[in-house]
Amino acid sequence: MADILDGKAIAEALRQKTAASVDQFKALWNSTPCLAAVLVGDDPASHVYVRNKEKACKKTGIDSKVIRLPADTTQEQLLAMVAGLNSDPSVNGILVQLPLPKHLNAEQVVSAIAPSKDVDAFHPQTLGLMIRERPLFLPCTPAGVVHMLESAQLPLAGLEAVVLGRSLIVGRPLALMLLQKNMTVTICHSKTRSLPEVVRRADLVVAAIGRAEYVKGDWIKPGAIVVDVGMNRRADGTLCGDVEFDSAAAVASLITPVPGGVGPMTIAKLLENVLVAASHQRRSNSTV
Ligand code: NAP
Repeated sequence: MADILDGKAIAEALRQKTAASVDQFKALWNSTPCLAAVLVGDDPASHVYVRNKEKACKKTGIDSKVIRLPADTTQEQLLAMVAGLNSDPSVNGILVQLPLPKHLNAEQVVSAIAPSKDVDAFHPQTLGLMIRERPLFLPCTPAGVVHMLESAQLPLAGLEAVVLGRSLIVGRPLALMLLQKNMTVTICHSKTRSLPEVVRRADLVVAAIGRAEYVKGDWIKPGAIVVDVGMNRRADGTLCGDVEFDSAAAVASLITPVPGGVGPMTIAKLLENVLVAASHQRRSNSTV
């Protein structure tokens, strides 16, 4: 039976470390790091995510302001809001909660965020710097996964890693980060043939496809590490991951649960990025 990789505990330890660094930042600069979150429309899940981020900021000593805009906000109004936050020296990090209402161009909005305040790390410049291995920020969910793996103090170099999913938010940047940790990485997607066979080769499986309990225990190589990024709702409303937990835990050596796995890590990494942004801006004495 697999050991549990407890994201909640690892995230709390990271949050406390960030909180201690925030205290040092305040003492040094006599100011408080600040995150601005822009929320457009009425998507209930997005409202919950933003509220959770606000609460986590508060607990960590970081200021937050949430700009709630109506669903019929125009592209021009949203871009003007982002431009205002870019030039506001009291704001260190900016995130625009995705998904945006369909009439808005998310790519253009994300690209309008000042790279020095891009705490979600979705800006094309941030992603480019990541490929060159010198980013200011790392995307929160993939960085959270790598942090969890490193917390387990396992030798990662040389592992066969299989990443399921190639989104810009999770799969692609994560695959790159695992490559940078010297793993041999395969990326799978909806057109991958014989998915179970590919997964069976993996020492590390990361599932980020958004399909409830899709990855079965008999796909997992005995002793493999399984990281489940998926966040899905079953028909009865309960949360589950992309991996069928019980059958996978019976064969894996280490597995992340859902909830209580990758989810808490994402917010902990966001807080860390806000502190990185504030410190970088102070040191370079510029806001853009
Ligand atoms: P996404 O943008 O919908 O991307 C899903 C990816 O999975 C795509 O690359 C897709 O392939 C691939 N895929 C879908 N069905 C597949 C199948 N049957 N076999 C193989 N690949 C398949 O999703 P995302 O934003 O990356 O999110 C993935 C999951 O992670 C979701 O459950 C989401 O809620 C969760 N998530 C959790 C956190 C967290 O903090 N824990 C953060 C972000 C996301 P194609 O490219 O071919 O379409």
